[in-house]
Amino acid sequence: MTQDDDAIDPISHTPQAVAYTDPLTGLGNRRRLMDKIRKLASERADDPAPFTIGIANIDGFKPINDLFGHAAGDEILCQVAHRLRACLPDGGFVARIESDEFAFILPLVFEKKGAEKIGRMFKDVLSAPYDLGDRNVRLSASFGFAVYPFAGEQFAELLKSADTALYRSKRRGRGQITIYSEEIAEEIRRGTQIEQALRRAIIADEVACHFQPIVNLADGAIQGFEALARWTDRELGVVSPSVFIPLAEERGFIDSLTETLLKKAAETARHWPSNLFLSFNLSSAQLIDPATAFNVLAVINRVGFDPRRLELEITETAMMSDPEVAAKVINELHAVGIRVSLDDFGTGQSSLGRLRDFAFNKVKIDRSFVNEITVDKSAEHIVRAILTMCEGLNLKVIAEGIETEEQAEKLRALGCKTGQGWLYGKAVDAPGSFSLIEVQQAAGLQDSKSASKLYGVIR
Ligand code: C2E
Ligand code: CA
Ligand code: CA
Repeated sequence: MTQDDDAIDPISHTPQAVAYTDPLTGLGNRRRLMDKIRKLASERADDPAPFTIGIANIDGFKPINDLFGHAAGDEILCQVAHRLRACLPDGGFVARIESDEFAFILPLVFEKKGAEKIGRMFKDVLSAPYDLGDRNVRLSASFGFAVYPFAGEQFAELLKSADTALYRSKRRGRGQITIYSEEIAEEIRRGTQIEQALRRAIIADEVACHFQPIVNLADGAIQGFEALARWTDRELGVVSPSVFIPLAEERGFIDSLTETLLKKAAETARHWPSNLFLSFNLSSAQLIDPATAFNVLAVINRVGFDPRRLELEITETAMMSDPEVAAKVINELHAVGIRVSLDDFGTGQSSLGRLRDFAFNKVKIDRSFVNEITVDKSAEHIVRAILTMCEGLNLKVIAEGIETEEQAEKLRALGCKTGQGWLYGKAVDAPGSFSLIEVQQAAGLQDSKSASKLYGVIR
């Protein structure tokens, strides 16, 4: 396991060595890497023996510099260099190409699996604590790999492919490994296209808020609405919020999007009868932002919407990235009278303990269970268990995704009081929400069946 240093001795001080060496770590630099890849590619032009190039980028390196000082940052980079070098496969090569970025060449690695395996090994090696004398620091790294010749035949092209793969890893959070493929490049291109269009749409006020009724399952009376984002782009057509919300999170403009949506939702909800609540989805990024409660309150105060009529839906996955900050945000929301529901319950890594540890008011049973409730006994058992548990914990429950009268009937029989789903109405625009309310008031509902029929008139 040695680094292939055929041409230059990194400790030598000849002008040539200096030009090809990273002074901090003693590794090769970008120029050296470029030479090596060119050499490999030209040697193999007739008979391409595949190799892979990879890039590792330290996650959150800047805060380390800011927090512990540049000397500590430098020390960590030297230790990273040392570790990477020590675990390189035979004939491998590693260079430092930017402050916290390292690139390597892995000969004879010619497929996704091989690259992934080495990526995992590097990842483990880099995640062990770094000894800084007076303290230990832990960090993670993200990786992008590009396999020659599929990901490019020239230096620039290969490095760009590895960089594209790294970009995707970074977007997906810390410690990710991505191997370049045409699909990934296409996914990123499309993401960028949607991002551009969405940024434009937010400024042009083209992202709308629709409202799906949440009803009392006994008589179908509307208790509130969940606000759901809607966006149709001239070129891209209808884009689902499941696509554009995560994209806005990933690319860092979810705050402005949420503010726009919450403002619109509250402006509509303010005119509903005062006994109706507005349920609004918070995105994961906002749950780890200590300013969230303040920001939400600022928006609804400006609109003049009563915080006691607002419920915020959050998911477990969102909470788990930083449970401490999440708990703080939730408590602050409570302090100003805003309620909090746990969305999509039963999916992800649901834990019953979580219901006790965090101060939720409501739980929304995920629609995958409701969907199966009349055909799959185990779905029925799970719903029953959730209902029993929530009753014990004094939590209200909403069943999501009710599409048929049979599902509604089953839920009622199990003791579920509140529901939402296409049976009672898809999300409608702001004027549609007022029509639904009017129709219900005019008709004086008797039971849930007549309610779903009535709402159907408006759909
Ligand atoms: P969600 O919070 O679980 O929202 C419920 C989704 O289920 C909505 O999809 C809704 O249209 C759909 N749905 C409702 N009833 C039924 C039914 O009976 N059957 C079926 N098959 N589906 C039903 P939508 O509007 O496409 O939203 C998808 C996700 O996007 C939402 O899931 C939520 O996570 C996110 N989202 C939507 N609007 C916003 C928003 O304003 N902010 C944030 N942060 N996320 C949003
Ligand atoms: Ca929701
Ligand atoms: Ca949901």
